Parts: sequence; C-alpha cells; structure tokens
Amino acid sequence: MPAGPRRSDFPPRADPIAGKLCPPTMSMRPLDEMPDEVCRSIRTLFTDIDDTITTGGKIPPEAYSAVAAAREAGIAVVLVTGRPGGWCDHLARMWPVSAVVGENGALAFSCEDGRMRRIRAPREPGAAAKLALIREEVLREVPGCAVSADQAYREYDLAIDFREEVPPLPDEAIGRIVAVFSRHGATAKVSSIHVNGWFGDFDKLSMCRRACAELLGGALEPDRAVYLGDSPNDVPMFRAFPLSIGVANVREWVHRMECLPAFVTRAAGGQGFAEAVDRLLRAGRPPG
Ligand SMILES: [Mg+2]
Repeated sequence: MPAGPRRSDFPPRADPIAGKLCPPTMSMRPLDEMPDEVCRSIRTLFTDIDDTITTGGKIPPEAYSAVAAAREAGIAVVLVTGRPGGWCDHLARMWPVSAVVGENGALAFSCEDGRMRRIRAPREPGAAAKLALIREEVLREVPGCAVSADQAYREYDLAIDFREEVPPLPDEAIGRIVAVFSRHGATAKVSSIHVNGWFGDFDKLSMCRRACAELLGGALEPDRAVYLGDSPNDVPMFRAFPLSIGVANVREWVHRMECLPAFVTRAAGGQGFAEAVDRLLRAGRPPG
C-alpha cells in the first residue's frame, strides 16, 4: 500500500505565530486546508478529552456523535488523557472507542466484544511516598490549589487542581506547582485544569505506541493518524504527529507551548472536535 501524503508534501506557509513554527513547514493552519486525500488516508484518531471533546467540562452531543461516526467510518478512535485509570476503565468499556490511554501514558485499556485488555507501565519503587511528600509541599506553598477531585481513582500520578473545582489560579501559581514536582525529580505536565506529576518512565506517546501494537494489532503510523488536543500537555503529541489538530481554545495556551498543532479548528472544545471529525469524513473514505 502506498504511503499517505506526508507533512513535507504541504507547501511552505508563513507561520501566523512568530517563533512557534514546528519544523519543517507549518502550524496552526485552518483545518479546512487539510487536503481531501490526507483526510481519506487517516486510519487512527488519537484525541485528548478535557477541553478537546468537552466544552465547559461536559461532552456536547455533537462531540459524542462524532466519536461514534468516526468509528463507524472505520477510523480507530483512541482517547488519550491525563484522567485516572478508574475513569479509563469506564471509557474503554462503554464508549465507542478502540482504546483509552490514561494517566498521561501510565496505562491503556481496550474493551471489544466484552473482553477487557489492559497494559500498564512499570511502577517505580517508592513513588507513592515521594508523591505524598510533594502533595504536602504543594498545598503548603501554593495557596488556592487542591488535590484533584479524581485523585482517588488514580493508580500512578498526583493531580493538582488549579481551575477545575477551585477558582482559577494565575500562570505564576501553575509554575510554582510544577516547580515543586521538578525539585523532587518528578515529571510534571500542565493540562487545562490540572498539573499532573509522576515518577516512572512513561508518557502518552510511548503508551500510544504500545496500545497500537498490543491492543489494536498494528504499529502506530503517525502519517496515517491525527492527534487532537488543546493544551501544553499535548505538546509532545503535537510534535510527534505531523497531522496534529488543535481545537480553537488551544490559542489560550500558546505562550506555554514550544510546539503548536499543524491545524486548528474554528470552534472550541467539543464543537471543535466535531468539526475536525466532520472534516475527515466529508472527504469520503477509501474503499475497503
Ligand atoms: Mg485537554
């Protein structure tokens, strides 16, 4: 089978946001500019959940319908999230998706025909005790933040809420939360609502590769996949996927991102997600 169109096939274009160009050619282009043949070549849709499929914390009907429509059209949908393992169990069982990668790549679940399959990253010894120490320091040093409400359902990481159930904290406070994790040697990632920190050698991209190989039955093909996201914790995925797409609210975070998505939707959140799926499906699907 011939390879699909590659990023280098696109003509060079002036980048709208100076200094943020993802080499080699483009970032933040209107999604309507994605050529039909590229849309038709997509086999897998990887997507963030919070503020990418959701709008204001809820899934709009058109976003959920878009997940189902993509699957019905033969596109494997893989949810990729910082949300807890407990949530991922539910998502994998009940949503029309092929797999769920959770806790920023610590685990991946898939449930097809009633058969649940799970893969997990190796656990780092002593991680729980070190995270408990970080938790106390963050709460002491950054007034206004809180341990996330979904912490009880997490297996690997510590999530600090800076604007899901607490009044939004300024950028400077988010930076101080990250700094506490960093000085203890933990990895820390900023989503649109939480700072997630963990010990252990895992990330979203490496778990997506494992999920493809071990749960979906084939290697991850970045040129035949899209990744949708909205915030700084999506940057490694925007970098890894030539056909990355940001929903419109990604513009709020560009000051904290070293790499921007190749394309951007007109609509924000779940409506942006639905717009992206519609763009892919409008091009038609290849036979077979
Ligand atoms: Mg998000």
